[in-house]
Amino acid sequence: MLLLIPGPVRTRPEVRAAMAEDIAPWDNEFRAVYAGIRERVLEIAGGVPGLHATLPLQGCGHFALEAAIRSLVPPGGRVLVPLNGSYARRAARLAREAGREVVALPGPDTSPVTAGEIAAALAADPAIGHVLMVYSETGSGIVNDAGAVGAAVRAAGRRLILDAVSAFGALPFSLAAHPECDAVVFTSGKCLEGMPGIGFCVARLDRLEAGRAGSWSLDLADVHAHALQSGWGSIRFTPPAQALAAFAVALDLFAREGGQPARLARYGENMRVLYEGVRALGLTPYLERRHQGPVIVTVHQPADPAFALQPFVDALKARGVLISNFHNTEAPTFRVGCIGAVTPEEMRGAVAAIGAALGDLGVRRREAA
Ligand SMILES: *Cc1c(COP(=O)(O)O)cnc(C)c1O
Repeated sequence: MLLLIPGPVRTRPEVRAAMAEDIAPWDNEFRAVYAGIRERVLEIAGGVPGLHATLPLQGCGHFALEAAIRSLVPPGGRVLVPLNGSYARRAARLAREAGREVVALPGPDTSPVTAGEIAAALAADPAIGHVLMVYSETGSGIVNDAGAVGAAVRAAGRRLILDAVSAFGALPFSLAAHPECDAVVFTSGKCLEGMPGIGFCVARLDRLEAGRAGSWSLDLADVHAHALQSGWGSIRFTPPAQALAAFAVALDLFAREGGQPARLARYGENMRVLYEGVRALGLTPYLERRHQGPVIVTVHQPADPAFALQPFVDALKARGVLISNFHNTEAPTFRVGCIGAVTPEEMRGAVAAIGAALGDLGVRRREAA
């Protein structure tokens, strides 16, 4: 089955094979694996040893993002969130429910927020301490310009928390070049092509404050304190040890492929094949080409009444391609992931399968509903 969703992604067999073992998390062999993951992830994030550290948490991206918000934004602190997609709305909800005050900067889910809009919002409200932004918006497929927005945040003397969950490993970002960034947040199961199960924050240590999180489980300062006390190979609480073992192999493969630039090139080509392929089938991509990111392509559902999402997903699955059976865009779409251990050649096959599945359903009018 070709899994084309924006996480958890299709993995390579070597990654899955690393899970076929019982592991004691405190075993010295495993401690070395875990410490090595932290070091390699810090390097991929462009972190500066001593200034930044990899602070992982068991669980999913939402957990890691909440931990970053709680650990870095003071309780009651004001956070600007550009709201141009479903994951941005989730980030805003995490901040709000953690007792931080969210200032929303609404925008359509079809285009990125601009650095100018961020600068204006920050100038208008000096009480905003942080900007919480989604890098790659996994709802629609747009990419917010983390480099330019980071520069605007820096110029305004504020702080940035970057939800790079569907971006990290593919889209460029270096903490060393972004001193305004308190944390970049991502997971094991997206562009780094590991198993789901671990959330990562690579954070500035000088911005952490013991106890600020108001939650022991989600306190990054405590994750750091634990590393200082028990070693970088030690993890608080029971880890998904097999997922970590698999992730170490995924990082080997990431390096062997050529790191972030190579991954971006492959995903970008997957996206191009898909975007042009669905257009050639008479379908309408949800985004303009210039706003289309390399992580996920969303496509307007066809106008033909013969189209319905679940039967389409089922017909596609019967042809060996699995996509999401829901959409997160403002208008009805179907979503196809471009990330994971997938080649452009396989993407060409997926486009053919999409055409065939539409045929199976008898969908003739393919333009947007
Ligand atoms: C996947 C994702 C998350 C986190 O999702 P989980 O299901 O909690 O792992 C957060 N933000 C973005 C942009 C994502 O793509």
